[in-house]
Amino acid sequence: MTIQWFPGHMTKARRQIEEKLKLIDVVIELVDARLPLSSRNPMIDEILQGKPRLIVLNKADLADPAVTKQWIEYFKQEGFMAVQADASSGQGIKEIPLLAKELMREKIEKQLAKGVNPRAVRALIVGIPNVGKSTLINRLAGRNIAATGDRPGVTKGQQWIKVGTDMELLDTPGILWPKFEDQNVGYRLALTGAIREEILNVEDIAFFGVKYLAKYYWEPLKERFDLKDRPQDFENPDEIVAVMEAVGRKRGCIVSGGRVDLEKASGILLRELRSGKLGRYTLEAPY
Ligand code: GDP
Repeated sequence: MTIQWFPGHMTKARRQIEEKLKLIDVVIELVDARLPLSSRNPMIDEILQGKPRLIVLNKADLADPAVTKQWIEYFKQEGFMAVQADASSGQGIKEIPLLAKELMREKIEKQLAKGVNPRAVRALIVGIPNVGKSTLINRLAGRNIAATGDRPGVTKGQQWIKVGTDMELLDTPGILWPKFEDQNVGYRLALTGAIREEILNVEDIAFFGVKYLAKYYWEPLKERFDLKDRPQDFENPDEIVAVMEAVGRKRGCIVSGGRVDLEKASGILLRELRSGKLGRYTLEAPY
């Protein structure tokens, strides 16, 4: 799914989330563990208006585990509850309802003290496109929501999904737009496939990726493409392009005159990177 985010769409998306906020107790904000800041909505704090929030670093199976730990620490220091997960396999999912309940502990305890039986915590999942919202909803529901959906609606066709006895989840997530102002954010999103390549030039995306990998994840890159020379000066574009050319030669992307077809090489590199062939990586670190 690709959404072209025009100002009108943003306003509408925001309004839709604000409507849903009235129905729920806690927000589950999904970010991509490989780029936890770049995959966040720039106005998230303002939009959520102080609702208790759990941050889930999803796709942790694709991210560098050591850096994911640092990110969780970072978010905790920012005052959030944060947890890592892999919605596609279900790893880390069981904790989510428990943490959602934990966010409501004070209120629940007060109700219990008054002799009121607290109802299940109501939650909404929010995040930018492709971060794994539907996958997580289906995981938590334990079935494919898109395939069912004949249960009674609550409001405007929205339905609650029971997750165990402690949590109820709105079946439609809140979709938010990513940050556009910063070009590096765009490259990180494009590298992971979160935004379509057409928006940015494929060679520029691959260049950004090779530069980052050469700096922080050289070994897997070297192994995969039989590379020899690691760039000495990462700020020297010629050295980065030389790596891209070596990748192209390895994959047979040669045009007349023996020149490397950089566009083709870039496409191959991005495909292999996105499908996990270059191992686990994280594109930004908190410290
Ligand atoms: P949404 O647009 O936020 O609803 O994202 P989707 O749930 O449609 O997921 C986008 C893509 O990411 C799909 O191809 C999912 O299979 C994949 N995906 C979602 N969660 C994970 C995860 O934790 N790990 C991995 N490896 N892939 C995931």
